[in-house]
Amino acid sequence: AKITIAIDGYSSTGKSTIAKQLAKALGYVYVDTGAMYRAVTLFAMRNGFIGGQNDNIGALVKLLPRIKLKFVYNETLGYAEIYLNGENVEREIRTLEVSKYVSRIAEVEEVRHMLVDIQKDMGMEKGIVMDGRDIGTVVFPNAELKIFMTASPEKRAYRRYKELLDKKEEVTYEDVLANVENRDRIDSNREFSPLKRADDAILFDNSDMGLKEQFERMYNHALR
Ligand code: C5P
Repeated sequence: AKITIAIDGYSSTGKSTIAKQLAKALGYVYVDTGAMYRAVTLFAMRNGFIGGQNDNIGALVKLLPRIKLKFVYNETLGYAEIYLNGENVEREIRTLEVSKYVSRIAEVEEVRHMLVDIQKDMGMEKGIVMDGRDIGTVVFPNAELKIFMTASPEKRAYRRYKELLDKKEEVTYEDVLANVENRDRIDSNREFSPLKRADDAILFDNSDMGLKEQFERMYNHALR
């Protein structure tokens, strides 16, 4: 029978890479909740609510009902891309610029309420792999399989740094490392549903693990 798989963990641990592979192998739906927080952040940046002189979280909260998020499966890519009010923002949400502000937006209780509700709805049907920070603790506390991913900050920053270089973003390793550490700190210490391992989540440290080994281990957990 199909199950619900919750994958949480620190920034840039490779959650989405492994979650996508797992979903594909199992014939499950994959949902990237980080993309949802990133899309709301992009909306806030475009409207000048964050990233300028003064933050205006109150104005963002008022406009939340105007934000429509949608995932559309891309046959060629093999996963769903996120749309913000009808526009494909998959590329734009992955920049270091968005990464700088996303954890601040993810602290906002109203934002979390809105996104968690959408995520719970998507999980009504079994056969889903969802990754994020609070999936095993808040979104699907009854998930049959919970994974908590971690790796050393340096390894994680290096992987993300290479990814951004591949996308021709002008970044330094130091900037990326600072961003990864800063997000982990904010994510772990926020008041509302902070990032933490669920008691029944399997701890998965991939500092010294290749992709193939990670996939095989996870796949075996999923079949059990
Ligand atoms: O997974 P990703 O690194 O794209 O997530 C970006 C940010 O969104 C995280 O650093 C965190 O602040 C926030 N987030 C969250 N809860 C989730 C998913 C992401 O707070 N379930």
